[in-house]
Amino acid sequence: MSYKYHMPTKVFSGKNCIINNSELLAAFGRKAMIVSGRSSAKNNGSQDDVIKALQKENLSYVIFDKVMSNPTIAVSYEGAAFAKEHDVDFIIAIGGGSPLDAAKAMALMVRQDIKQENLFNGKYGSDVLPVIAIPTTAGTGSEVTQYAILTNDAVESKTSIATELIFPKIAFLDATYTKELPVETTINTSIDALSHAVEGMMTVRSSVVSDALAKESIRLFVKCVPAMKAALGKTTGSEVNQSIRENLARCSMLAGMVIAQTGTTIVHGMGYSLTYFKDIDHGRANGLLLAEYLRLVEKEAPDLTGKILAAMSLTTVDDFKTLLETLLGEKEDINKEEIRKFSGKAAKAPNINNCRVRPTEENIKDIYTASF
Ligand code: NAP
Ligand code: FE
Repeated sequence: MSYKYHMPTKVFSGKNCIINNSELLAAFGRKAMIVSGRSSAKNNGSQDDVIKALQKENLSYVIFDKVMSNPTIAVSYEGAAFAKEHDVDFIIAIGGGSPLDAAKAMALMVRQDIKQENLFNGKYGSDVLPVIAIPTTAGTGSEVTQYAILTNDAVESKTSIATELIFPKIAFLDATYTKELPVETTINTSIDALSHAVEGMMTVRSSVVSDALAKESIRLFVKCVPAMKAALGKTTGSEVNQSIRENLARCSMLAGMVIAQTGTTIVHGMGYSLTYFKDIDHGRANGLLLAEYLRLVEKEAPDLTGKILAAMSLTTVDDFKTLLETLLGEKEDINKEEIRKFSGKAAKAPNINNCRVRPTEENIKDIYTASF
């Protein structure tokens, strides 16, 4: 079996890993732009730790804290203009997948004059600002991927900038920042990670290496399920303890390493409409659909489904669906017209070419219908 494994991001993990490795920051220049969402980076200690590390190294910084969830193309261009105006040398992205992705897009836009219509075409020059990524959710794995996923109104969906140029140079993984992540976000994001690991195994690009990473990621997810179940119905993040937080951060990073090799499947392709049109969180959207795609895969590739269920310590797709339904709670409503529209869009999603079991538009409709 031939395969390629590429992971250029250096990962430093553990409590205080930013300050303990502050000397690495100086290698990227004299001035940083910190990119974050509106408030969480200020509240969870991550921004303070970054600033302390920058000050220790006598580096200056500016802050761009306007990134919203499911970041827009506009906010990415705005951040890039801000970076140019302040002549920054590198970017430190703090937050969930949204600020990390927007920052990765900015890194490209600062150094290259890319028109909006060419943003997703994959043809870029070689110049880019270095990005350092500090995840504060545990789900997207964006700290170790070459993707920046932006809301793209032109196609009423989410579209990926995919280029090895935007792999973060360094990922600092300190799970203490996720301590107060609300239970619902903790569960939704963890299911994004699970989806990455499981989908990675279902792609045409899966390999012995990506499968090994995926299985370990799935094992860590399963280990955290009892704690997440116990926290259901509660809100404050401190209901989930620190050792679970560390496992979820690792689960997410390993699953990010998986999709960096394999890409995702139709599940992500279908989930984007749920997020774009129905405002369903990204991880939740995947989780709502994953079991029914696994059921389709089982029909054509029972061995593959068996391997995934074994990694989950489950025996049937129904068990898998029940587990996800327990974690996700009451589902949203989706009508027939929405299913028709979303299926048409998903059937044209690039992820479909990546599926070991390639669904037809009819299959996609059936997956949406059976999922809701
Ligand atoms: P997110 O949109 O980044 O953040 C969700 C919410 O959580 C925000 O309100 C944020 O607040 C808050 N938050 C973040 N960290 C927190 C913390 N430690 N404590 C309390 N609240 C916190 O959510 P996400 O699920 O991590 O990212 C989703 C995005 O990632 C989507 O756009 C998706 O398409 C993308 N994604 C990317 C990849 C990739 O490979 N690049 C893979 C999968 C998904 P603030 O706004 O105040 O920060
Ligand atoms: Fe995802």
